Amino acid sequence: MLFLSAIFLLLLGASLGSFANMLIVRLKTGESVGGRSHCVSCKKPLKALHLLPVISWCYLRGKCAYCSRSIHWHYPAVEVLMAVFALIAFLRHVPVASPYQWGVIGFEIALSFCLVVIAVMDLRWKLIPMEFTVVSAMVLAAWRVLLGVPWLELIIGAIVISALLAAIVALSRATMMGEGDPVLGLLMGVVLGFPQALLGLLASFIVGGTAALALLMGGCVDRKTQVPFAPFLAIGTLIALWWGGPLEVIFRYALL
Ligand SMILES: [Zn+2]
Repeated sequence: MLFLSAIFLLLLGASLGSFANMLIVRLKTGESVGGRSHCVSCKKPLKALHLLPVISWCYLRGKCAYCSRSIHWHYPAVEVLMAVFALIAFLRHVPVASPYQWGVIGFEIALSFCLVVIAVMDLRWKLIPMEFTVVSAMVLAAWRVLLGVPWLELIIGAIVISALLAAIVALSRATMMGEGDPVLGLLMGVVLGFPQALLGLLASFIVGGTAALALLMGGCVDRKTQVPFAPFLAIGTLIALWWGGPLEVIFRYALL
């Protein structure tokens, strides 16, 4: 039963990844979400065989079946990531005995879905989809309140994190971060609540700082390159979600 559930969650995650890929492209082009899937370069509608998560990409060797234009790496990457995140959400709550636990698993999968869409858009186009981020924040906040988290905790988290990020944007004159980052901070604050969200932000800075330093030393970027920060906010959010409890204990000891 456990094995079957795990397989089901992997498949569900990969399918959600496919959906995330479509959203990523259509949020950028402004196309409606309803229409049939098609190749981004030749616009030919795709067949069911071309839409299987990961498998189709491997079978087509990363190229469109009609025009042979290469398919961006984010397609298989997002599908694999979402499959892994769905599996992690499930394994974190095994053995799942109550509908409440499924509610929590659903919340964690939905959160990783929103984070993946935002992070990939920022990585590819240095663009944070504002409307999508705000709507995601509202839906995820409502979901958390339904799961019994005090709403005040979430509101404080949202205010603190977005205010901190807005201050950094203003003080650095948007050289360190873009206008979209405080909006993503709103989402981070509202899903983690206070004080967990602060932990998430700290984790984002540590991971982001380390990555920027490594890229700088490796000669991949120079001091003027804008490094998209949304992927690091997404990573920080997941770190606080997965290990927030133990990390909080460590920080309390370190500060006392
Ligand atoms: Zn094509």
